[in-house]
Amino acid sequence: MIGVAGCLAAGLHLACSRSARLAADLVVTGANVWTGDSRRPTAAAVAVIGDRIVDVGSASDIEPWRGSATTVLDAEGRRLLPGFNDAHVHFVDGGVQLENVDLRDADSQTEFARRIGERARAKPGEWIIGGEWDDQRWSPADLPTRQLIDDRTNGTPVFVSRYDGHMALANSAALGRAAVTEATTDPPGGAIVRDARGFPTGILKDAAMDLVARVIPKMMPEQRLRAVKRALEHAESLGVTSVQDMNPSYEDVAVYAELAARGELTTRIYAAPMETAWYDQAKIGLRRGFGSPWLRIGAVKGYADGSLGSTTAYFFQPYLDAPQTRGLLSDEMQDINQMRTRLMAADHAGLQLCIHAIGDAGISQILDLFGDIVRANGERDRRFRIEHAQHIAPRDFDRFAQLKTVASVQPYHAIDDGRWAERRIGPERIKTTYAFRTLLDKGVRLALGTDWTVAPLNPMLTLYAATTRATLDGKNPDGWVREQKITVEEAVTAYTAGSAFAEFQEREKGTIARGQLADMVILSDDIFGIAPVRIKDVKVLTTIVGGRIVHQRNP
Ligand SMILES: [Zn+2]
Repeated sequence: MIGVAGCLAAGLHLACSRSARLAADLVVTGANVWTGDSRRPTAAAVAVIGDRIVDVGSASDIEPWRGSATTVLDAEGRRLLPGFNDAHVHFVDGGVQLENVDLRDADSQTEFARRIGERARAKPGEWIIGGEWDDQRWSPADLPTRQLIDDRTNGTPVFVSRYDGHMALANSAALGRAAVTEATTDPPGGAIVRDARGFPTGILKDAAMDLVARVIPKMMPEQRLRAVKRALEHAESLGVTSVQDMNPSYEDVAVYAELAARGELTTRIYAAPMETAWYDQAKIGLRRGFGSPWLRIGAVKGYADGSLGSTTAYFFQPYLDAPQTRGLLSDEMQDINQMRTRLMAADHAGLQLCIHAIGDAGISQILDLFGDIVRANGERDRRFRIEHAQHIAPRDFDRFAQLKTVASVQPYHAIDDGRWAERRIGPERIKTTYAFRTLLDKGVRLALGTDWTVAPLNPMLTLYAATTRATLDGKNPDGWVREQKITVEEAVTAYTAGSAFAEFQEREKGTIARGQLADMVILSDDIFGIAPVRIKDVKVLTTIVGGRIVHQRNP
């Protein structure tokens, strides 16, 4: 136990009893604690002062921390874990999606068009965005066209994304505002899908999406604030106590900073803006992990390629169901020397590099660049990250480990894409697809996340996916590429300590141990004791962030 002087020196505001024994602000008792700390893997109670854990132990170890003003929370024997740290989200998009037209579960083109039409009637003239449609739910799985929705939307512009964010459908009104016609050429790293006569169908892939995206009016500050608040509430309810936000705009970060200043953040945010703007952070000397426990910056996020669902992930061999293509390198990669120069400079400045790479050739090229950077800038604890790391060429696993690259992965994509991935890339390539087992066995650090809004933010679905690999169509109950399953404990470790490591915060969070931030969740059921197939139905009953109870629901 710490002495009063020590605590005062540490700047904590304390309630000290006359016996000079400190009282905790919060004590959680009766818990089945999984600490994630190998020195003390299990415990029954936790004491918190301010935003930090001050003690972890048995009921009798923790009893002396209880004072007259201590809040006591009885976990009633339930499982308590460190809070979940989602290593890859699009937080503002998530909040916007919660407020926008939702097409994710539209299971036919007719239903897709009906929902868009309904929205256009409710708010005529106002851009319809968001969407998150999934053509693979439809039979046949044909891409939608502008003609499908033009009649129902008239002059209301529509630009709705596929759920993976790598293609979107524009109606004729939106194409008109963007001046996209049959004469428009495909931009580097993008494709305008055309019909037999050469006219745009309305589908724009990757960099071509920007042709329309840039004419959509910017979000008003109040809209952005509302979206962030919605996203925070959603995260609280799911036990997500930290998020790592990929490609936020500066306006997004400004909203986070405003909420942090007001003490209204309830999820910790590590923001990684676009790599092309690396100099904005570097020029004032910011380095990875700079900021407060609530909001940090100092990372950059880039793209090597597109996605499997949009046939834009970049492979060594062509797609089986689209043999004319092997994917698309991103526009940032179109001049690989410029990409190398930028990343090398960002690394030299001490910024962390997080690069989206999905296809085997995309991943390989990024590992090449990482190797070049180490050779040029020297060895350092830099924690390169490959975001998604979905389809890894067998020869690249060792390199992945040697370069100490963190694999920032989203297991839900595996049970989602697993419905159709084999048709697209064949039986050989799927063996090293979402290869979580192989990555761990090779000594690669995993960080878990969702890529929300691409997948649901709910950590239970991620844990379910990583441990069962049971595809969403119910066709692989024993697991799709089942050799790549990981255990519940491995998945939870990756989702807490692993994600904390990926943002240089393992000394601050990710385990339940003395000195760590008091970010904890209490679950409705013991995920270590039930069959993994049941994990998807488990609820987070209590979420504690920085010692504050921010969410509570009845079992
Ligand atoms: Zn993403």
